[in-house]
Amino acid sequence: MHVDHVQAYLFNWKVYGAAAICLALEGLFFVRFRPLLSVQLAQDFVFGVLKHGLFVPLSFANAALYMAAYDLILPSGQWQIARDWPLWAQLGVGFVAADFAVYLSHWMLHKVPVLWHFHAVHHSQTNLNPLTTHRTHVVQDVVEDIVRYLPLAVLGVGYPTWVGVRAFNWVWAHLIHSNVRWNLGPLRNVIVSPQYHRLHHSRDAEHHDRNLAGRLVLWDRLFGTWHPDRETYPETGIPDPSYPVETSATPGALTRQLARQYAYPFQAIWRDPSIAPGLRRAAGRPWRTTA
Ligand SMILES: [Zn+2]
Ligand SMILES: [Zn+2]
Repeated sequence: MHVDHVQAYLFNWKVYGAAAICLALEGLFFVRFRPLLSVQLAQDFVFGVLKHGLFVPLSFANAALYMAAYDLILPSGQWQIARDWPLWAQLGVGFVAADFAVYLSHWMLHKVPVLWHFHAVHHSQTNLNPLTTHRTHVVQDVVEDIVRYLPLAVLGVGYPTWVGVRAFNWVWAHLIHSNVRWNLGPLRNVIVSPQYHRLHHSRDAEHHDRNLAGRLVLWDRLFGTWHPDRETYPETGIPDPSYPVETSATPGALTRQLARQYAYPFQAIWRDPSIAPGLRRAAGRPWRTTA
């Protein structure tokens, strides 16, 4: 555990700034009335502590490895076409290209059965709040990082563009997970809103695998994953009753619950009849179906 990263997270004004703004919006325009501070929000906070203490350094290492591999394949930055563009062009093209990569990684997390079980941890939240953006399994983080770094690296954009795109995405990720009754009005079919992403988290089967876009609705329109409803604010969560839902906000319970939620995807994969037979054969244990 990197203590400096934990401290950076615990004392990070961006976390509290973004969360405070979103919680204020929740207080004013809530979807369902509930206490702003809840067991579920506490569990999301602990996910954030672990991610920033352990997995952010890992993902930086992951990105560094990726960039080194990229340099080997495409030496001398010959594909870095945006390197000399003005900042506004780098920001605009970088944002759109990175957002497409976010869509692609999210599509994979939903459509590849093994990956879905890891992404289900993010979807398990029944009480959406700004910190739900931190509720992600490390396997999801690695998949996303690998895909998300690609466009900015290929374009060769400068550091201000990396920071600008990441800062906007950071704030927006908190907003769209908030318990806020807001569909962005005239912008609702352009930019992903809290209502749009809430529909993505819906328990209702008709909403499953819909509204996968991260920021630009365009990707869902182009690739057929768009849902037209801009008024409904459904209940959220996953239908699997075996998911280890958090029930207590004491530090010990939050830690144990986090461990069980990290273990959940592996158990779910082992139980999944569409995946497990091959895995069990590979492990030398013949698959037997029970009557
Ligand atoms: Zn999803
Ligand atoms: Zn989400």
